[in-house]
Amino acid sequence: MTVKKYKWVPVIDTGRCNGCNACVLACGPKCLELVQDAAVLTKPDICGSEEHCIAPCPIGAIRMGWVEMDENVDWNLKRGKWREV
Ligand code: SF4
Ligand code: SF4
Repeated sequence: MTVKKYKWVPVIDTGRCNGCNACVLACGPKCLELVQDAAVLTKPDICGSEEHCIAPCPIGAIRMGWVEMDENVDWNLKRGKWREV
């Protein structure tokens, strides 16, 4: 049976995101970037899962969630919160 790996990372509602950049600036490791005026988690592998990007959002367009990670990517399992199912 294949083991699926999930990581606790920010999930952005790109339909609501207004591109204010607050979450991008709040992220120390620079995991988030604006892409076409919406925040995108472009570097989930270095996300520390500590949620500093959530509170700064003025409209609640970003939340944390368990997201399945691609098993073919060389994820750094030592960083952030993970679970396997
Ligand atoms: S949880 Fe932390 S490291 Fe991950 S994107 Fe948010 S601020 Fe950046
Ligand atoms: S803080 Fe909220 S509205 Fe601003 S870029 Fe991030 S997700 Fe979008």
